[in-house]
Amino acid sequence: MKLKDKVAIVTGAASGIGKQIAVTYAREGARVAVADLNAQAAEAAAAEIRAAGGQAMSVAMDVTDEDAVNRGVAQVVAAWGGVDVLVSNAGIQIVHPVHEFPYSEWKKMLAIHLDGAFLTTKACLPHMYAAGKGGSIIYMGSVHSKLASPLKAPYVTAKHGLLGLCRTVAKEAAPYRVHANVICPGFVRTPLVDKQIPEQAQLLGISEDDVVKKVMLKDTVDGEFTTTQDVADAALFFAAFPNNALTGQSIIVSHGWAME
Ligand code: NAD
Repeated sequence: MKLKDKVAIVTGAASGIGKQIAVTYAREGARVAVADLNAQAAEAAAAEIRAAGGQAMSVAMDVTDEDAVNRGVAQVVAAWGGVDVLVSNAGIQIVHPVHEFPYSEWKKMLAIHLDGAFLTTKACLPHMYAAGKGGSIIYMGSVHSKLASPLKAPYVTAKHGLLGLCRTVAKEAAPYRVHANVICPGFVRTPLVDKQIPEQAQLLGISEDDVVKKVMLKDTVDGEFTTTQDVADAALFFAAFPNNALTGQSIIVSHGWAME
């Protein structure tokens, strides 16, 4: 078991990629806090993990609300004594061309992706520093941390921004043996992506099938979606990595859509 007795907080873990990371961490022996805006779905995901023999609790948390983040992290620390791994994963997608992007939606996107990453990091680091056992912080970036697509200005901006946050945290937290890294997935078939297919078809004036083949998977090496388990395996690798040799990095898991 690669994460035996570690305490992990995974945000946005009631669905999609975050849920698979929570399941994978629990299978590897971690105690997992399933933190999500959707409290009911978070409890259902935590109950699924417990039913499979793992250790999990749900935490109702809006990652854009500083008090809610601090309360949620405190709840986990009170229950399990600390926090070893943070996966900042909660995210949404909103698509419009820049010249029509409602400012309120731009701000909402940056709040969830960037403020959420900052607030959860800020809340977890003091516990990691005080425990003196090191730790791992993982940000859910995207291929859009490295390149751009039309209609996704705030998403691309925020996902690029996570690289900067990660690199800064990697430097500040190094003396405490806390490492920080970014995972950059290609398209993964989750509710977030399922919602985009009809939206993009309408905005681009093409069929939904063409959105998948000619937009989403066009530049992959094999025309395949990345899976939630592919991303969870990368998240396990970063979480279990024992030292600062691997910090401030980003890894692309995208069927070769982006290569660097
Ligand atoms: P998803 O919609 O399946 O899950 C996202 C979860 O985040 C949901 O449970 C939702 O309730 C939660 N959430 C939303 N706003 C929140 C908030 N303010 N506070 C707390 N929780 C909140 O999406 P997913 O595809 O699993 O995406 C997870 C992450 O992976 C996101 O950061 C996304 O940008 C990133 N990502 C996804 C893909 C993809 O193709 N699916 C690709 C690259 C990166």
